[in-house]
Amino acid sequence: MHNFPVPYPNELLYSTVARAGVYQGITSPKQLLDEVFNDRKVVATLDLPCHVQALAQQLRRTGRFSIQELIYQHTLFPIYSPFITEARKKRAIQLMTACSQGAIHLLLGVAASRVQVNDYLRYCPECLKRQYQQYGEHFWLRSWFFPGLQVCPEHGALTILPIRTSAHRHQFHSLTSLLSDDVVDAASCSELIQLARFASQLLTIPFGGSPSLEQWTSFYRNLAVDFRLSRGNHIRHDEIYERVIHQFQKSTLAQLHLQLDPTKDSSWLKNIFRKHRKTFSYLEHGIVWLSFLVDMKPDEIIQHAHRIATCAKVFTYTVKSSVIEQCELNIKRRLWQKLVRKNGVLGARKLGSGNALYAWLYRNDTPWLLNFNSEHKMRRTNPEQKLNWHLRDLNTVRQLYRLLPAVDVCYTGPRLSANFLLTKLKNKSTIEKNLSKLPLVSMFLARYAETVTEYQLRRLVNTCIELSDNSESLKKWVVLRKAGLSEERLCADTQKVLAEMKLF
Ligand SMILES: [Zn+2]
Repeated sequence: MHNFPVPYPNELLYSTVARAGVYQGITSPKQLLDEVFNDRKVVATLDLPCHVQALAQQLRRTGRFSIQELIYQHTLFPIYSPFITEARKKRAIQLMTACSQGAIHLLLGVAASRVQVNDYLRYCPECLKRQYQQYGEHFWLRSWFFPGLQVCPEHGALTILPIRTSAHRHQFHSLTSLLSDDVVDAASCSELIQLARFASQLLTIPFGGSPSLEQWTSFYRNLAVDFRLSRGNHIRHDEIYERVIHQFQKSTLAQLHLQLDPTKDSSWLKNIFRKHRKTFSYLEHGIVWLSFLVDMKPDEIIQHAHRIATCAKVFTYTVKSSVIEQCELNIKRRLWQKLVRKNGVLGARKLGSGNALYAWLYRNDTPWLLNFNSEHKMRRTNPEQKLNWHLRDLNTVRQLYRLLPAVDVCYTGPRLSANFLLTKLKNKSTIEKNLSKLPLVSMFLARYAETVTEYQLRRLVNTCIELSDNSESLKKWVVLRKAGLSEERLCADTQKVLAEMKLF
């Protein structure tokens, strides 16, 4: 075929073939198969297509798009590849290169998986707008077709078309041709979007080695140890369950067909923390990673698992320092530094992922960890705490202001010293000790707290007003006695005012 279209970033090969049909004006599905694959038996497969070699051949003139590149960047293979054995991965690539006749889905466990593949065509209306602006046409994007998830990792709910790819096995539907069809919007929730984001991160992982089943076994065993969820060989499955349920609602897990029954001995969650005898789906791995290692990227986790040196007896496995490469140490150190700068040493350890990181560094890089922590222990860098002080400042000032009006009408009350005002607060001693962190409160006290002179004058004036109101004569000794002031203790300014009043 001349001018076979070049795949757009993250476009499914299925979509590129469909566009080829539109470009050439080919309406017969069989004719399209003839032109593109030179084979009328090719099945139009969305997720894991075969005959990739024929497509690489069509794109030969571009000088790009090797078979491997097409499989890793234009199919859903990358969400399976980290979780299957090397041998299986090799076989899968062979099958996808040529003809597989459904064997690829069996090989990757798609057919037998708890995660249901839904083959209704679907799209994200928001992504569609962007595609049109950028490329002037529409195409099927990989991230709309993660098995079990029907959400766009960026925008959420997808629009579901009433067309299943399995209905016409040899037909490649182009997105543009279906846009006028009746549509239904799928339900979306933040947990599904979170999983879709995780899946799209898997799509970006370049071709590389996958951890073996033994390495995955050790990885989850270590995870339980790091989070103190194991005692010897015993794994605390109930606590693992609690943690997952805290992160993912039961309804979400049910929607994914990954519901958990803590009373049953054979749930997928229990099995993933046991010896791996078969592969687990990307969603099962993802749910655990997002519950425990939310700050780590999937490729970091996969690389980490791939580096685990396993021995025959996996359950007594511990990481040996000599095995750990410097670059891994550096990554972990940087992650820990970042967490500590943000949360402080104690705060970082309270985070689930922080605690695991701490445990890992403690086992593998103790001197560095202790040294770094001691440097950062005393520093108060917690922004939350700063925020708290500011809030506390505002709240306290409001409380203090509320004390004022009551005072205005009451001239006979006690002296409104800073101490007296602070005593009215519930947390007096905290406020008193931290006035330097509370600028508003300090300013309030400076302005409104009564000095001794102000207090004496207030009493003096009040008494004089009262006496004149009752038409009593203002004799000095009467005024002083009624005001509760002794001549010896009068401040200089009060004496001055008293003298000016010329009382006898
Ligand atoms: Zn979208």
